[in-house]
Amino acid sequence: MKYPLSRGTKDILPEEMPFWHYIETASRSLFDLYNYQEIRTPIFEVTDLFERGIGNSTDIVEKEMYTFTDKGDRRLTLRPEGTAPIVRAYIHNGLYKKEKTSKLYYCGPMFRYERPQAGRFRQFHQIGVENLGNAHPFSDAEVISLGVHLFDELGLSGLSVSVNSVGCPVCRPVIEERLKQFIGGSLPFLCEDCQRRFHTKPLRILDCKKPTCKTYFSAMPNIQDSHCHECRDHFNSVIEYIDSLGIPFKIDTQLVRGLDYYTRTTFEIVSDQLGAQNTICGGGRYDGLVDQIGGPPTPAVGFAFGVERAVMVLKELSDLIKKKDPLIFVAPLGFAQQTRCFYLVDELRRAGLKCEMDYSKSDIKSQLKQANKLQTEFTLIYGESEAEKNTILVKHMVEGKQVEIPWENIVEYLHHEHQRLQNASDLTNR
Ligand code: ATP
Ligand code: MG
Repeated sequence: MKYPLSRGTKDILPEEMPFWHYIETASRSLFDLYNYQEIRTPIFEVTDLFERGIGNSTDIVEKEMYTFTDKGDRRLTLRPEGTAPIVRAYIHNGLYKKEKTSKLYYCGPMFRYERPQAGRFRQFHQIGVENLGNAHPFSDAEVISLGVHLFDELGLSGLSVSVNSVGCPVCRPVIEERLKQFIGGSLPFLCEDCQRRFHTKPLRILDCKKPTCKTYFSAMPNIQDSHCHECRDHFNSVIEYIDSLGIPFKIDTQLVRGLDYYTRTTFEIVSDQLGAQNTICGGGRYDGLVDQIGGPPTPAVGFAFGVERAVMVLKELSDLIKKKDPLIFVAPLGFAQQTRCFYLVDELRRAGLKCEMDYSKSDIKSQLKQANKLQTEFTLIYGESEAEKNTILVKHMVEGKQVEIPWENIVEYLHHEHQRLQNASDLTNR
């Protein structure tokens, strides 16, 4: 192959698109219901934003960023996640001055230089929400509940919610000190990443997925035992609220997530349909981030889910073959009839009727064959005899009948017949 696909990327072909549209449409309408508004930020940002926002000692910043220098010698990075750019936009556009709270959602491609495998790409898509300006544990519960509601709406089952709290700047040092004391002697047996994290961000050792490292974590002190009063109260409220909302969840005291900005609540929604890459959605509270990248101290909470992984689960669980809009095929017989049909196709489309014509054909057999292949609703046949009478023959592909219609009535007739068939199929689908 002369131009191979870049490693870790993929084409999303038309046959997969119904799943994408389904997820995007359901997300937009549910976010609207919760009064979130869409925001779109650039695909690239200055590199410092991510180094400072996500944290220098995270996997993303250490290993996974697509960073380049542009012709003006600026250090730029393709966004690896959505939260830091949205917080940048929140500050840059002074959104905090306009409203006490901002409820924003986004949808788009993200880029991480990771080892490609099932459910893990270098360009992938996230849909997420950010709720800025709310410190109340109700907002953590609302965000978790919104995530669960969304996957319910999409019809995804086999999901489970895990929740934890990673503490705040007051109790984090205590938590980390206890972790370091516990790990101490085992350090040489942990992987290189964990050894480095031990010195930079000990809490993130818990995020290591390597089985050998994990064996050392089973007896790890419970980080919740080191929480300050405020964090303990906040966490207890969050789980009380989500419990009362009827959300099944489990507390996973080792859930820390891979980004440095989290404070207090962290959560994940995991699918039992995905194999190794089983996390669909991750999120949490990040009360320090706005302040850290130059805005006023602003509490915030959000989540993001991976669209590719949601599509994978949807494909497993449901055969969401969306009914395509019915198509009309226009078939001129003989080249002399083609031009008038070409203009008719334009007229039909402007009248809102979806139609197609094959410019390379003008015989009946191959055009009917093509109409069948396209599973059209109607095929319009226009030959010499129709031209003489100024009519057109409408072949009803499903009902099998043929009706000859005066040329000037064709749009009205097709609209009417299309509606009649729709009503009939609505009745049988009831
Ligand atoms: P993971 O543990 O799978 O690496 P993560 O903790 O890096 O996930 P987040 O940064 O929180 O994930 O992103 C949220 C969601 O985005 C993930 O739950 C996943 O569905 C999706 N996601 C993250 N990285 C990728 C990737 N490289 N390819 C496809 N989807 C991804
Ligand atoms: Mg990751």
